Amino acid sequence: MKPILAVYPGSFDPITYGHIDVVERAAALFPHLVILVARNTSKAPLFTDDERIAMIREVFRSNRSIEVDGFDGLLVDYARRRKASVIVRGLRAVSDFEIEFQMALTNRKMSKELETIFLVPREQYSYLNSTIVREIARLGGDVSDFVPPVVRRQLRAKFRLRK
Ligand code: ADP
Repeated sequence: MKPILAVYPGSFDPITYGHIDVVERAAALFPHLVILVARNTSKAPLFTDDERIAMIREVFRSNRSIEVDGFDGLLVDYARRRKASVIVRGLRAVSDFEIEFQMALTNRKMSKELETIFLVPREQYSYLNSTIVREIARLGGDVSDFVPPVVRRQLRAKFRLRK
């Protein structure tokens, strides 16, 4: 059997300890994981795609089985091109379920050979999302329990610039 390539797509605006928890779980299951940053998200991101990618690369720079890439089009096209067979997504609470279910079934409809798996983070991160982190940082709060130091520094720089 050939080694499975897994892809973990998202906006990662910015990456949090919740995402990192999911990455670590996925990296323990698959020999090669691509963290795939959506370049054109409909969400008007705080960080540019290059900034988001650079922060994630910094976080995982010592782990050679984890690759960070950006993408612009359909996830199924990226997966096909890279011969990836697994999509990894994180599942926090019931609120994530409906949209994740819809996306998984849509992706399967477009690409039958692609399987979506859901990983559940440690409880302490199950309420965490990038929106909350951006809001706390914008208001000058301490985000050190939620994001790694490189992200904290970038958030500080971003909001200092905006003031
Ligand atoms: P998207 O805009 O594609 O939802 P996100 O960066 O918000 O991108 O999330 C990417 C994936 O990571 C999604 O599957 C999301 O549910 C998951 N995720 C986000 N935050 C957490 C967290 N705290 N714990 C576990 N999974 C998470």
